[in-house]
Amino acid sequence: MKYLLLVPDGMADWEVNGKTPLEIADTQNMDFLAKNGSCGIAKTIPDGFEPGSDVANLTILGVDVRKYYSGRGPIEALAMDIKGDIIFRCNLVCIKDGVMVDYSANRISDSEAKKVIDALNNEIARKWNFIKFYAGKSYRNLLVINADYDAKVKTTPPHDIQGKRIDDYLPKNGDLAELLLELMEESKKVVERITNKANAIWLWGGGKSIKFPNFRERWKVKGLMISEVDLLEGIGKGLGFDIAKVDGITGYIDTNYKGLAKATLNGLKTHDFVVLHTEGIDEVSHEGDLEKKIEGISIYDEKIVGYILDRINLEEIRIMLLPDHPTPVKVRTHVAEPVPFLFYGSKKDDVKFYSEKSCRKGRFGLVDGLKLMEIMFKF
Ligand SMILES: [Zn+2]
Repeated sequence: MKYLLLVPDGMADWEVNGKTPLEIADTQNMDFLAKNGSCGIAKTIPDGFEPGSDVANLTILGVDVRKYYSGRGPIEALAMDIKGDIIFRCNLVCIKDGVMVDYSANRISDSEAKKVIDALNNEIARKWNFIKFYAGKSYRNLLVINADYDAKVKTTPPHDIQGKRIDDYLPKNGDLAELLLELMEESKKVVERITNKANAIWLWGGGKSIKFPNFRERWKVKGLMISEVDLLEGIGKGLGFDIAKVDGITGYIDTNYKGLAKATLNGLKTHDFVVLHTEGIDEVSHEGDLEKKIEGISIYDEKIVGYILDRINLEEIRIMLLPDHPTPVKVRTHVAEPVPFLFYGSKKDDVKFYSEKSCRKGRFGLVDGLKLMEIMFKF
């Protein structure tokens, strides 16, 4: 038996004029799976957590974030094979007159960002022999602190305070916050000198490095992660999955669908369990573009789900499909509501198509996201 988990990030939505994008889009392949399988809705964001893709995807994969989550930094460090005691996301940002004007440093190039990070290591990190900056992609970099701090500092993602005054959102609570503030202050002159795309660093999403429970031991399957973003690569590595590389992916609705679908089919030959996470539908949801979301869902149905269904033996596979969280175009951000899921490969229920509403009537009802892998492998 093979197992396939399809995660179209942010696909679930609210009604616009009585229908959700999923209900308007052409989704015959997802409907086929729902009709011949069974459905439910899953709570992928535990109470008290922000509806981020990190928390949601970990929950779907059976990792209890209440025990194993310490922030985005440590997960991204896994993706980049970076080790350390405490790891923070280090954005290059632009702050003007005390206001966060650009959390992404005008999409600074990787090479220019690396110049900034090198200079920060040479001129700033040197003063504290236990810290180091690491260059990532564009404005997304990391700071590693190898020291024994209480990591309970309060920080804020810079994309949440775009256009707002930063004063209320600077790191607070204790010694570590003091260190972060000092680093942010000292870095300003260095960043400003090296680039005109940014003038500061913003440290957030930090926590102690973590070790996830071993997925392979728990479920006796060899896993493969196929994704378009570092975050999912990090989660995959943390769980002990192999990581597939696909050329030409964009993380948008113009991505290399054929490459992703082919990698999935190939992965199912070499691995027991394949996760395919795609990003584009979430991106157009953040843009608030209903037409593009409907288009993105239709393309996903045809070029990912349809392409795969046409080429696999449906007798020998179990398929689960769900978005990690809803990203309603109306609010252009993630929400923590349950998402519809379909599960193909065991009994049927009466659900005839895949949507937010129809799945509520499925035989699983509302399930805790942490139970999804039990459904996948044991049901
Ligand atoms: Zn998103």
